[in-house]
Parts: sequence; C-alpha cells; structure tokens
Amino acid sequence: MLNRDETGYDSTTEQTLVDPNYWMCECTTQFIHSRHGYEDVCERCGALEEDYPDARLADFQEVHCRACEHVYAEAHDDPVKRCPNCHNDDPEQTVYLQR
Ligand SMILES: [Zn+2]
Ligand SMILES: [Zn+2]
Repeated sequence: MLNRDETGYDSTTEQTLVDPNYWMCECTTQFIHSRHGYEDVCERCGALEEDYPDARLADFQEVHCRACEHVYAEAHDDPVKRCPNCHNDDPEQTVYLQR
C-alpha cells in the first residue's frame, strides 16, 4: 500500500502531486492507467507506459469495487460506469478510496 506521505510533494517548489501507481497517456478520456496492470501500452493511443509520467492526483480518484475487490482509477471528468474487472455497474457496490 502506498504511503501517502511519500508522494514526493515538495512545498518549496510546489511540484505537482502525483501517484506513482498510475500513469497517464495522451487520450482525452480513460487516460489513467495502472502501473501494476498487465498492459504497459495504451491500446487506443499507443502510448508506452515507460515513456509517460505518473498520473496527477488532482485528475482522478481511486474506486474500490466491493464485488471483486478490484481498485481502478476514475478521472474526474470521465466517470467509469462499471468495474473494468467484473463489470459490476451497481454504484452501491463501489466506493471512492480516501487519500
Ligand atoms: Zn491512450
Ligand atoms: Zn469489480
């Protein structure tokens, strides 16, 4: 589990807070990808994980699916309607993780 105190934020330089568990590609929607997932390339825009930066915390939230215990990212302007792992689409079965 990520220690949120080690996200690299430096208040003197006001660097952007990022989550090293995720990276972002060039797509305008669904651009947050897990660094721990099996895919290391975005199949829509062709971005390679190793070439792209960590995702900014301000851009997305983590969602926990209670049905299958999967955790996935949801960009603020791009709601994910169903769990990408088990396709659960019941909002009662998903919770936003605190960070
Ligand atoms: Zn992409
Ligand atoms: Zn699920």
